[in-house]
Amino acid sequence: MYLEAFPEELREYYRRLFGSEAGLLMEKLREPVEKYYIRVNTLKTSRSKLMQILRREGLRPKRSPHLKEGIYFEREGPNFPDDFEPNLPVVRANKFAAESVYQGAMLYAPGVLQADRRIKPGDEVEIRDPKGLLVGIGRARMSAKEMILSKRGIAVEVTLPKFRLPSLSELESFREGLFYAQSLPSMVVAHVLEPEEGELIIDMAAAPGGKTSHLAQIMQNRGEIMALDKSKNRLRKMEGELKRLGVKNVRLMHMDSRKLPELGVEADKILLDAPCTALGIRPKLWESRTPKDIEATARYQRHFINAAIKSLRKDGILVYSTCTLSYEENEGNVKYMLKKGLKLEEQEIFIGSGGIGIEGVQRFYPHRHLTQGFFIAKLRKV
Ligand code: SAM
Repeated sequence: MYLEAFPEELREYYRRLFGSEAGLLMEKLREPVEKYYIRVNTLKTSRSKLMQILRREGLRPKRSPHLKEGIYFEREGPNFPDDFEPNLPVVRANKFAAESVYQGAMLYAPGVLQADRRIKPGDEVEIRDPKGLLVGIGRARMSAKEMILSKRGIAVEVTLPKFRLPSLSELESFREGLFYAQSLPSMVVAHVLEPEEGELIIDMAAAPGGKTSHLAQIMQNRGEIMALDKSKNRLRKMEGELKRLGVKNVRLMHMDSRKLPELGVEADKILLDAPCTALGIRPKLWESRTPKDIEATARYQRHFINAAIKSLRKDGILVYSTCTLSYEENEGNVKYMLKKGLKLEEQEIFIGSGGIGIEGVQRFYPHRHLTQGFFIAKLRKV
């Protein structure tokens, strides 16, 4: 049941916004996506070549019907029913680790919160999240004491996770930078911005670089992308990713994007993939955000919007996206942009649903599109 996974105020908020679809939406949010997408890095390979390589690596890739650089893998599971009680010694994992195990990852020692004292290496164990939900079954690689004390290493080799998504980061094709794991709606964003060679493009919230690197590949590494982020750690990760992917036309800038106008640049196009409440990200074993967080985040996002408008040339394009489901962070902020004089533009790829009370913006719903929850708007400064 999804009820215990969402705070009462948020469940009420979803019921008001999505009516009879709210229940199904919340159930879906608790599961990983049915189709796990990767983006072919067309700077280095083609889709058909990568499909062949992935098959040789033992995977079952399928072509996206929507995007020519999209490949997906079917999710496995659920591998056991919700009321399954294996009655094995219990290892309790923190939320982050439990969410990973739930989709097929190994359980690493730093993610272990508690372990039944009797556990020794080789024992079969059940893995539960901090609230008691069974996320997988596996074989202990460490004793209970080691699991708690070790700072690294696999504590439990997960043999039966609730769901399984392919594990890709160990593949040779991954190391060679032939693809980037990216959700389908995220992949739509770069197409909606329609970057062209020779344009100055600014990505205001760029790390870890999923959309920036997609823009670069569409631009064939020509033109210039200024990629801003305030998190040094995330930028460091992004630098590594751009290198892996062979992206060369990006200037990384460590700064607070709300100060963008101080740089005095005039961009042709701006991508604002705004920091948000991330309510659309799947899977969520449970959610802790409430409508208060939504209000505060929507206000925070308006600072970025103001900065973007100031730094866009006349007739320039702003693409605004979030991975959240709320009204205020999405249509609410689009209304704010319309009041500031921007005009909505048609989106080149439209495979989601229309907005709430506004047509022409694109929403992705977990229960309708079997994707993450996502929002995309395209506006012009006139
Ligand atoms: N666009 C990225 C991608 O596709 O990989 C994901 C971006 S994530 C949704 C939002 C990013 O905004 C985070 O990396 C966060 O560090 C950054 N951020 C939050 N507040 C910021 C600020 N004031 N200035 C610049 N970046 C900020």
